Amino acid sequence: MQDHFTFTFRGVRGGHPMPGPSTVKYGGNTTCFEVRLGGHLVIVDAGTGIISLGLNMLARHRATEERIVAHLLFTHLHHDHTQGLPFFHPLRHPQASLYIFGAKPSERTDLEAELVQDFQPPFFPLGLEEMYSRRRFHHVRGGDRIVLRDPQGPPQVLGLADEPLELSPDAVLIDVHHGYHHPQTGVLMFRLHYRGHSVVVASDTEGYVGGDQRLIHFARGADLLVHDAEYDDEEYGEGEVIRQGWGHSTWRMAVEVAQAAGVKQLALCHHCACHDDAKLDEIERKAQALFPAAFMAREGLVISLL
Ligand SMILES: [Zn+2]
Ligand SMILES: [Zn+2]
Repeated sequence: MQDHFTFTFRGVRGGHPMPGPSTVKYGGNTTCFEVRLGGHLVIVDAGTGIISLGLNMLARHRATEERIVAHLLFTHLHHDHTQGLPFFHPLRHPQASLYIFGAKPSERTDLEAELVQDFQPPFFPLGLEEMYSRRRFHHVRGGDRIVLRDPQGPPQVLGLADEPLELSPDAVLIDVHHGYHHPQTGVLMFRLHYRGHSVVVASDTEGYVGGDQRLIHFARGADLLVHDAEYDDEEYGEGEVIRQGWGHSTWRMAVEVAQAAGVKQLALCHHCACHDDAKLDEIERKAQALFPAAFMAREGLVISLL
């Protein structure tokens, strides 16, 4: 199984979970993506979509008795990207090794200290320090590269100044990009490379007039771009509530980036909790008229990249 590269949408909602009959088709869980690259498992964000993934990981462990090893990348720490973490059962498993990556939240604190807040009484019965998995936290920033070589071994983090890499075909390379336009800290974006193919995750980002040129450069030629598409055109800058500056894109901004970057497929994601299945169908039709390889991200959808 060293030659597979799959991207699974576990949660596609922004803001807050939205389960119910009007969201059955696209799903109601918040942001989480499962990426399997050969023997490596990379998870992007820990919205409520991570809960079912954790249960699957434990079932797989029971069947194979292999140690659980996963690399969890945080785009940022807003609730819709972290609220599933307390219920991610591998955290409590003594046979799990979790490598957790994200930006340093501020000069005064670090990623682990911020995440631990989600587990503190009175909000939760268990502290993170009472969870039995092995965890290593890494701060990363734009320009860094994360290298995964041995599926059971630790990752390597390289900065901008480090030498170019010699990579074996089985290695995974993750490029890190920093987007400035999401309140208040910006977001990290990731490009995951494996065996000549790549996927870019650009969640929680607001477009610019003429396209986000730094992101276009970062995503150029990717097999799949997963891009924020929270709003329809008229929801962004018209009406009673002006959402410009809130750090999210329209589907049209996502299409602009996909076209300029020449990506093969575009997944429109981070669906507004206010959009039901019919509205998302409508946005998909409009996006496909401009970029036929665009589609709405849907919970449970698996894209094979290899
Ligand atoms: Zn979000
Ligand atoms: Zn956010």
